[in-house]
Amino acid sequence: MITVIGSINMDLVVQMDVFPKKGETVLGSLFTTVPGGKGANQAVAAARLGSQVKMLGAVGSDSFGTELRANLNEENIDTSLVMNTSGATGIANILLHESDNRIVVVPGANSKVSPEVIASAKTVIENSQLVVMQLEIPVETIKYSLNLCKELQVPVLFNPAPAANFDIEWMPYIKYLTPNETECALLFGDDVEAALEKYPNQLIVTLGEDGARYFDGTKHVHVKGFNTTAVDTTGAGDTFNGAFAHAITNGQSIEEAVFFANIAASLSVEKFGAQGGMPKLEDVIVRKE
Ligand code: ADP
Repeated sequence: MITVIGSINMDLVVQMDVFPKKGETVLGSLFTTVPGGKGANQAVAAARLGSQVKMLGAVGSDSFGTELRANLNEENIDTSLVMNTSGATGIANILLHESDNRIVVVPGANSKVSPEVIASAKTVIENSQLVVMQLEIPVETIKYSLNLCKELQVPVLFNPAPAANFDIEWMPYIKYLTPNETECALLFGDDVEAALEKYPNQLIVTLGEDGARYFDGTKHVHVKGFNTTAVDTTGAGDTFNGAFAHAITNGQSIEEAVFFANIAASLSVEKFGAQGGMPKLEDVIVRKE
């Protein structure tokens, strides 16, 4: 069983032919609302592949909250530990132009995921094979969760996004850290090889269409991405993380899990929306063969 501690958002997606410049108004071509939030996305990615997933987070008292809980339930994710709070559910305003995106997140209920909430879920965490986390809930809650996982000896897969709030001091509490190239440079500097060598089998850097790489203690391993036509790369990293969590908790090696996650993420970028293209296990197996 995988526990995801993280954000639940409604994505407000606007598609446009050109991004507005400062002070400029442009006409968009399409507006849609789709479930998102890095926590929820990673939970859905793992659940769709067949993992048993529990979500720890919060939604607000608005209609988005009701919709998002229902969405997680439909994905067979246990939402009994998703709090209902007063006020607004988290949202992400996503501007899409071709396969490029610009995103503003307003945390709303996600900012109410407190250390007390995590403390009350101690038994669930204790019984998890893996805890999956990101950086869209309060930092004190992340610190508390990392400490608790260490105390309970539960491994943590940490996706440091958005990276600005990450603290390098947390590395000893994390089994796998999965930044993309930009996040990796922000956290560890421009020398990726040196960073990877410092954290063997722990730091896994995703490289967009080029796949992902890590250092196995002896050599650098580059697991190539799966070449495809990207329609919407929102949620590619989330699919990668959910799929990696699924694979690693099913006994795969790091290299196998990265290979599996690359395939799952490549399938996800072929469809619109963060969760829209997340594959089922059989889709990944077909592409693997
Ligand atoms: P993020 O989405 O967090 O910015 P990346 O851009 O590195 O992270 O993408 C995460 C993973 O998604 C990659 O490691 C790769 O497996 C897959 N991926 C991303 N973009 C593409 C693409 N254009 N074609 C195929 N796979 C992709």
